[in-house]
Amino acid sequence: MSAVFQRCVNCRKAYFPFRLICSRCSNTSFVEDDVDSGVVEAVTLLSSGQQTATVVCPEDVQFIARILGGTVKAGDSIDLTNTASEETALVGYVPFQRNKA
Ligand SMILES: [Zn+2]
Repeated sequence: MSAVFQRCVNCRKAYFPFRLICSRCSNTSFVEDDVDSGVVEAVTLLSSGQQTATVVCPEDVQFIARILGGTVKAGDSIDLTNTASEETALVGYVPFQRNKA
């Protein structure tokens, strides 16, 4: 279980969502990397009762994740995934689809 992000091959800066040009070094070549978990920084409760959270990861990238399988609060550590499964485990779901060129 992990969430994909993009890393500049020149300066190693991490991005999500993906970019075409690195804001730090203007490079246009990136590689995909992934991270297993992060720490909840802020939580938003939607009118539907669904939580979304800003999750900060040690790789210096942050995700907006949909919280599945429970609830979280700021400071909680949470696993991240790009796959919304039938599992009931607490997870931060980051919708992601590769561009099909
Ligand atoms: Zn760069």
